[in-house]
Amino acid sequence: MARRSNNDGLGKAQSLLSTAFPRVILNDTTLRDGEQAPGVAFWIDEKLAIARALARAGVPEIEVGTPAIGVHEIAAIRAIVAADLPLKAIAWCRMRLDDVDAAVASGVGMINLSVPVSDVQIAAKLRGGRAEVLDRITSVVNYARMKGLDVSVGGEDSSRASVDFLMEVVAVAKEAGARRFRLADTLSVLDPFTTFNLVAILREATDLELEIHAHDDLGLATANTLAAIQAGASHASVTVIGLGERAGNAPLEEVAMALVQISGRETGIIPSELVRVANVVSEAAKRPVPLNKAIVGGHVFTHESGIHVDGLLKDRHTYQALDPVVLGRDHDFVIGKHSGIASIKASLAKLDLCASTAELTTILARVRAHAIATKGAVTLEKLTAIWREVSDANTERHVTSP
Ligand SMILES: [Zn+2]
Repeated sequence: MARRSNNDGLGKAQSLLSTAFPRVILNDTTLRDGEQAPGVAFWIDEKLAIARALARAGVPEIEVGTPAIGVHEIAAIRAIVAADLPLKAIAWCRMRLDDVDAAVASGVGMINLSVPVSDVQIAAKLRGGRAEVLDRITSVVNYARMKGLDVSVGGEDSSRASVDFLMEVVAVAKEAGARRFRLADTLSVLDPFTTFNLVAILREATDLELEIHAHDDLGLATANTLAAIQAGASHASVTVIGLGERAGNAPLEEVAMALVQISGRETGIIPSELVRVANVVSEAAKRPVPLNKAIVGGHVFTHESGIHVDGLLKDRHTYQALDPVVLGRDHDFVIGKHSGIASIKASLAKLDLCASTAELTTILARVRAHAIATKGAVTLEKLTAIWREVSDANTERHVTSP
């Protein structure tokens, strides 16, 4: 019973955290940064289907696209806005007046105005240095506000920027009327510890909404996103199955589930919709969901190992931290090289078959040999055939024995 009291303690701590901190807002950018993944191009009906699936999953904000790309992109954004889904549609723009005009034509109510903030990017992309960055923020954010748009200022390559300059950027953005600053780890150079420190400094310096935008080149996007939220970020950019530029972005399903599971933070995401969203995006992007993809992969609740299956059959809490039922899924057991007697017995029971202890040992040996030879799990049909061979041989032995 010790386990139960530990869980109760954890539950209490989590509910305290939930009341102490407001809901974390996830901003899904599958339709913008996700589409920037090489070779991915969504058609308008696919964009609408993705937006609908995200709305159904309770995602409160989505980045719908980049209006400056042209009339087709604007038409797609207009179609999503016209669908009147229960989410905020945000367009991505460069820090330019003509990009703002294109966003106005797309019908969105909020934009992310992106501007390079690291010295290396400023030197390569803008002539006027840091001063030009600040001037552009002032003029373009003011212009967008005049046009009635809510504004997030996106600091491109924030993670390689001088912290002092970031503080200036944030102050000027607020002064110009922005409501949010996006800290973009564009090149994925952060780890959770530096992310926490950086966001904590910004959190202390401003009352703007803070959004973390993490990339996954080192496999740290989810961890960095959690660290940023722990340090006070109010918003997080995510994409479905992590689809995005290079190694992609922080995956929606991982961030949503880790926040509630580990940090006790609510996002409003409906877990049982996550597999559906992943399938919609996977199909439109022509990117299969890897079997071992956290939360939504086909095999993440499938067990073969004898030790784990035996434990799960006795008490699911032995090897279950995340309850698959929350995701509308369930455990699945397969038999193969790593199976033990308990899983063979359970699989035979499913087939209404039984075997003696000696027969089970023989069946297990044959199951393992078949799995090794075929490099795969053993189907129930094959198990039935093995059971028949073993029990027939046994009957023969009994019949022919003196
Ligand atoms: Zn990005």
